[in-house]
Amino acid sequence: MIDTLPPLRDVMMRHDLMPKKSLGQNFILDLNLTSKIALSAGSLKGHHVVEIGPGPGGLSRAILAAGAKHLTVIEHDRRCLSALKEIQDHYPDRLTIIEGDALEIEYNNLLPIGGKARLIANLPYNIATPLLTGWLKSEPWPTWYSSMTLMFQREVAERIVAKPTEKHYGRLAIIAGWRCYSSILFDISPKAFTPPPKVTSSVVYLKPIEKPLACEAKALERVTAAAFQQRRKMLRASLKSVFQNPIDMLNMLNIEPTARAETLSVEDFILLANQL
Ligand code: SAH
Repeated sequence: MIDTLPPLRDVMMRHDLMPKKSLGQNFILDLNLTSKIALSAGSLKGHHVVEIGPGPGGLSRAILAAGAKHLTVIEHDRRCLSALKEIQDHYPDRLTIIEGDALEIEYNNLLPIGGKARLIANLPYNIATPLLTGWLKSEPWPTWYSSMTLMFQREVAERIVAKPTEKHYGRLAIIAGWRCYSSILFDISPKAFTPPPKVTSSVVYLKPIEKPLACEAKALERVTAAAFQQRRKMLRASLKSVFQNPIDMLNMLNIEPTARAETLSVEDFILLANQL
């Protein structure tokens, strides 16, 4: 028992919250599991937390029970608002509910000036990658979040934490590696969700790098898109679409023109992006 609110199955029934596939709704109804996720974000005592897609509020309740000073949730599905309101009444002045699309929110304006939040979410899988890349590209930097503890499909989690030469290394690992340290904390079986998704999920922890190498996100994206478009091609060929003379450019930066994208470090890609 983490609180005296009703079990999540009751909440779903009373508020008529049948999960919708179009909204990426796979709810976790086990408060022990949502507590494990909330606690894996590090201590929440005295912290602001931002949660995307609270749904019926299982993770929100765990975050509040773990002692978060304040929680701001952003939910797109109006049907969930009455259930979230009950949590708000149970924790007076500690929960702010925003009805809206997480892809459209101005995150810099969510918190008091200079304030930082821990970002925690069981993300809707259909928009998980664009949400993450948006947060990774935030300006100014250091940014509004002090950590991100996010659930993804296992395969996306592997693409975030991958290192050079590894199978899943590519554009996502590079943009993530530019601005954050990241690691996979643990997996969650499809059985833990209602309804169960087809694939295993993983919780990923991302910690912002205080002083990442200077780089423009757009340039980094252009270079990695070109380099990985055909991942087996040599860079001297794949980078023709972004540099007039890729061989000279690569030589100048001490990168083998015959190397393939998957062998380059994040730093190499930043060097390349800074030449654009
Ligand atoms: N956190 C809950 C629900 C996860 S399911 C739990 O763990 O049980 C994903 C949630 O994201 C759903 O509640 C869905 O309505 C919400 N969602 C989907 N698209 C969204 C968007 N664009 N902005 C904000 N929330 C969204």
